[in-house]
Parts: sequence; C-alpha cells; structure tokens
Amino acid sequence: KVSVVLFTSDLRVHDHPPLRAALAAGDHVVPLFVRDDGIAAAGFAAPNREAFLRDCLADLDAALRARGGRLVLRSGDVADEVRAVAAQARADEVHVAAGESAYARSREERLRTALARDGRRLRVHEAVSTVVPPGAVTPSSGSGHFAVFTPYFRHWSRVRLRDPLPAPRTVRVPAGIDSAPLPPRAGVRGLSAGLPVGGEKAGRRRVSAWLRNGVMAYEDTHDDLPGDATSRLSAHLHFGTVSPTELVHRVREVGGPGAEGFVRQLCWRDFHRQVLAARPETASADYRPRRDRWRGEAPAGEEIRAWQEGRTGFPIVDAAMRQLLHEGWMHNRGRLLTASFLTKTLYVDWRVGARHFLAWLVDGDVANNQLNWQWAAGTGTDTRPNRVLNPVRQALRYDPNGAYVRRWVPELAALDGPSVHEPWKLPPEERAHYDYPDPIVDLAEGRDRFLRARDQRI
Ligand code: FAD
Repeated sequence: KVSVVLFTSDLRVHDHPPLRAALAAGDHVVPLFVRDDGIAAAGFAAPNREAFLRDCLADLDAALRARGGRLVLRSGDVADEVRAVAAQARADEVHVAAGESAYARSREERLRTALARDGRRLRVHEAVSTVVPPGAVTPSSGSGHFAVFTPYFRHWSRVRLRDPLPAPRTVRVPAGIDSAPLPPRAGVRGLSAGLPVGGEKAGRRRVSAWLRNGVMAYEDTHDDLPGDATSRLSAHLHFGTVSPTELVHRVREVGGPGAEGFVRQLCWRDFHRQVLAARPETASADYRPRRDRWRGEAPAGEEIRAWQEGRTGFPIVDAAMRQLLHEGWMHNRGRLLTASFLTKTLYVDWRVGARHFLAWLVDGDVANNQLNWQWAAGTGTDTRPNRVLNPVRQALRYDPNGAYVRRWVPELAALDGPSVHEPWKLPPEERAHYDYPDPIVDLAEGRDRFLRARDQRI
C-alpha cells in the first residue's frame, strides 16, 4: 500500500501524526511539498520567509534521506499536483494535517474533490500547528470563540495534550516519482543580512539550548530589549519545524515561573488562531470596527517612510525598526511600541504597518501579525484599546541604559546611558554633532489627536 503525505506548515519528521499514520498504513509513502501558486499569488512569499522555507525544505529532505527516503517537491496548483503525484505513485490515500485558516480549509475541500475523481481518499488528521486546535475550547455562550485572553488561557491550560510522536526510523519512497530540484537559499534576493537558518535541525537545537539556558529566567527577562532573552522560536513555530505540542511538554518538564510564563506566551499564539478561525475576515477587517478614520496614506506618506526606515527621531522606535530590516525579526516589546507609535501617535491605519511587517518578518504569520497589530491599534481584542504607549517611557523602562539603541542606531553610540533616548534634549552645539533626525511628531499632540478622534466619533 502506498500513501502520500502532504506537508504544509509542519516541515518536520518529529511529532508528525500524518506521517506516522501513512507509515502505519502501508510500506511506501511519498512525502510531498507543493510550492503553492495560491500562496505566491497572495503575495505572501516575502524574501526572508522564502529563504527560511528553502532551508526548511532542504533540511526535511536531508532528514528523510537519512531514513532511506526523500522529499518530493512540486509547484503549481496544490490540488492538481497532489492528484498527479497520487496517480503517479498509485497511492490509495493522501494524509494531511488539518489547517485552521480559511485558506487551509478551502484547500482541504479542493483536495478532497480532486482526489475523489480518481477514487482516492483524503485523510485529514488533527491540526499540528497549534497546541490546542481552534474550536477545541469554546466559551459556554456567545460567538464560539474567546475574545478575551485570560479565560481562554484558563480553559486552554486544562486541555490534556496528546503525547508527542518520535521521528520514524525508516521512510521508504517508491521509485519513479517526479520531483522538482530543491531551490537553494542563495537564489533569493533582498534578504535581511542577519536572517537565521531554517529547518527542523536548527529548530530542535534552538529548543534544547533554550530549555538548558534561557527559559528559567524568561519571566524576568522577556521584556529586556538589550538582553535579547526570548526564545526566537517564532519562525520555527510558523513553519512547523518545531512542534508546539512537543515544545509545551518539554517546557513543562523544566517547570518554574519562567516555564509557566513561556507556555502562557505560546497560548497567545493559539488564542489569535482561534480568533482568526472564527472570524477569518479579521485578517484585513477590524475585529471591533471603529467609526474614526485613520489619516490617509498619502498625507502621512513621509512619516510612514520615516517609520519604515527607522528615522523617526525617536531612537527606541528607530532601533526596533532597523532590527526588523536587519534580522527579519523584532523583539516583542519593539513590535508593541513601534505599532502603537504608528497607529496611535502617527494615527496611521494598522494595515499599513502590518503590511510592512509581513514584508520583512521571517515569522510573519497572518494570525499573529494581523491580530497583534489590531491589538496594538485598539481595533482588536485589547480590553484597553485607547492606551497609547509613550516611546520615551518605554525606552527608559525596557532599555534603561540605552544599550539596545546604541546597538541599532550607531550614529548615537557615543551618547552615554539613558541620554541616548532623548537626543533632542542635548544642548544645540552638542546636538549638531549627531547626524540623527529631529522627532517627526510631538508625542503629546499625537496622543491628543488619537484620543480626540476616538472619543468624538465613537
Ligand atoms: P518568545 O517570547 O520566546 O515567545 C515564544 C513564542 O510564543 C513565540 O515564538 C510565539 O510563537 C508565541 N508568542 C509570543 N508572544 C506572542 C504574541 N503576542 N502573540 C502570539 N504569539 C506570541 N508573532 C509571530 O509569530 N508572527 C508575527 O507575524 C507576529 N507579528 C506581530 C506583530 C505585532 C505588532 C506584535 C505586537 C506582535 C507580533 N508577534 C508575531 C508576536 C510576538 O512579537 C512574536 O511572536 C515574538 O516576538 C517572537 O519572538 P520569540 O520567538 O523570541 O518569542
């Protein structure tokens, strides 16, 4: 018996229920990844994620080869390609993990229909990209999803998790299945210079290092901008090179407040996914619509560009925005304060910021990005939607000695300690030494503009 296993956002051999089921069902499997035209057409294949994906595919192929198999790669329409591969392999069935996005659900439907035409069956396994799949815990009344994190977390924490599966020892792939060559990372243009390496091997190494040396202190250090003391597992979770279920099991074994705080953060990921699954339109529409109108993109154009390029004149904002361009990643505290700055202080539509983040983030993810942007903009699930973060106060609190700013804004590196956060306070003769812009907005005026707009027109 031959089965096809379709990999999507679960690019690993450990803890992979569809692969396990296919191996249990017969002697041969075809591990398949389809470079899906639908995803490319949606403009989602930004260079940083494309490069990381190429690493993941090469690594998955290597892991399968070490077990006697290989990865089959196709590109085109996913339903057509899966159907063709299943026919070429004379497979009985195709295994895939359930996806929670609207796109994944429509893909399942298309696959089912395409395969049924040849009398083949699609077997959809439980979701593997969340710890608790969307819809598995629901509030007793209302909309079928949780709109507030804390009660969701309470329910989520009580769910009994399945045990993680080991990687298979052997994978036998039938001969004669056509595959496209694996595209090398080197072929991708426009990457961030400090982009990390993708793939399950790199992901598992990072998990081990994090559990040995990192997670214990997480509760105290996760907001420390210069300390850079978070796991950096987000891209691995996005591409599924790390299993979130296995991760939670392993973190709970470590135990302690750091482990608890970290598991709570992983729950945020599932929280946003269950919101998006219940309200798919919130990928672009407001979760809680507001009647006030953002400033248009054209009048705010120069300020938007300054924000994107990290030259707003607010060193903490500029440091974070430059980290994004350089690494394809930004610290969560940086994401929060730069998003508040754009949407509230500059009063620009969150979609403008979300688009820029998706163009650069290696972990760029529709659920996490769009719904965190909405949270920061006060159109999402934040229960205090009108709070405005003051970037100077944020800087003094989370980068108290200015080391993070000096790392990313080298023009200010000669300024000592926290003075680096407010260069406009320097005496003019000294200020003139620094080739660094003046603030593009008055913080108090920006804040008032936002609060007036929200108050008056709601
Ligand atoms: P850690 O602090 O080590 O956290 C561990 C994991 O928990 C993360 O890898 C992530 O999977 C999850 N997590 C942590 N915080 C959040 C959160 N607020 N929401 C959801 N999951 C979370 N995260 C993405 O994965 N993709 C995105 O596109 C994305 N866009 C964001 C945009 C904005 C405006 C904001 C405020 C946050 C965004 N986040 C996004 C959430 C968060 O900033 C990142 O997950 C985190 O910074 C990744 O670094 P880490 O892996 O070291 O995190």
